[in-house]
Amino acid sequence: MRSWLEINLKNIEFNLNQIENLTQKKAIPVIKANAYGLGSIEVAKYLSKKNFKLFAVANFQEAIEIKNSGLENKILIMGNNDKDDLELAINNGFSITISSWDDIKNLEMLNTSKEALIHIKIDTGMGRIGFIPDESDKAIKHINDNKLGTIQGIYSHLSSADENEDEFTLQQINLFKKYEGMKDIPFIHILNSPGIFKYSKYTNTNFVRPGISMYGILLFNTPLKKLLKPVFKLKTKIIYIKTLNINTFISYGKTAEGQKGDMIATLPIGYADGLDRRFSNGGKVKIFDKECKIIGRICMDMTMIIIPNSLRNKIDVGTEVEIYGKDINKQAESIGSIADELMTRINKRVSRKYI
Ligand SMILES: *Cc1c(COP(=O)(O)O)cnc(C)c1O
Repeated sequence: MRSWLEINLKNIEFNLNQIENLTQKKAIPVIKANAYGLGSIEVAKYLSKKNFKLFAVANFQEAIEIKNSGLENKILIMGNNDKDDLELAINNGFSITISSWDDIKNLEMLNTSKEALIHIKIDTGMGRIGFIPDESDKAIKHINDNKLGTIQGIYSHLSSADENEDEFTLQQINLFKKYEGMKDIPFIHILNSPGIFKYSKYTNTNFVRPGISMYGILLFNTPLKKLLKPVFKLKTKIIYIKTLNINTFISYGKTAEGQKGDMIATLPIGYADGLDRRFSNGGKVKIFDKECKIIGRICMDMTMIIIPNSLRNKIDVGTEVEIYGKDINKQAESIGSIADELMTRINKRVSRKYI
């Protein structure tokens, strides 16, 4: 195997249980974007045997892929659907998000074989999709009066819960308060991962939507981080080693020169696998938990690293290299990104190994 992602499914379940215990709310596991790169079908398959009432994805395509793999999971599509996708989503039994009067108009024009299962999306400050709170009562009444479906859920999304934005986030949560007591609506939810770990006690919602945290990661520091177990590692193996007997350029564009005596190893992973090219010249990977620097530009399929002196006698062709692991936040930050982006970009050429 060239490069692979090791994924511990049990730890995903463990993290979800920790989240439910911490918040005393039920989880809607977010498995959009191929479960943040880790494989939505395998993650859904594993979790479908556990006690989760609903899973969340971004769009119809993601939902149908999971359903077509033979899973009977209940799935909420969190994004906006155009009219065609809306019809397909309803006929496939997915829960849909209704976030605008345009959505409602589409709903009215459809002639579906099943009753629409609706989650109303409220914009409390994210500014993305959703009814502003003042509009929502009218929308809900319109849906009910015209029997456009069953309102199964009502939800909102926090924009800045992992920043130092207590005041703004609490304002979002307070704008959502009026929905918390709505009777006959089974799913009321606002908290994403940072919300779960910082603001759970400020809401009386009954569900939470953890994404990144179920995969073992939080983008901000909190002592509660220790509640989570790591879930994945991106690994590869050394395929080539040379000790330079002259000074010589390494990789495209002559951006780095290896010095006589340097030991350089080549790894079978590149930007086409999802290793961000901005890690060229300076990004770090780990061998036996020791950092090694990337030298030269990352290529499409290969990357070179300098082997530190202390590792010279310990490595060989075939030695495992950790590309992303528990330092993924730090790595992402060093190139102005976030762990979510690095994870979701791990290409399908990288095999997924489930343990
Ligand atoms: C992605 C997403 C989530 C999960 O967010 P995390 O911060 O990864 O937990 C929850 N809700 C919505 C609407 C999302 O788009």
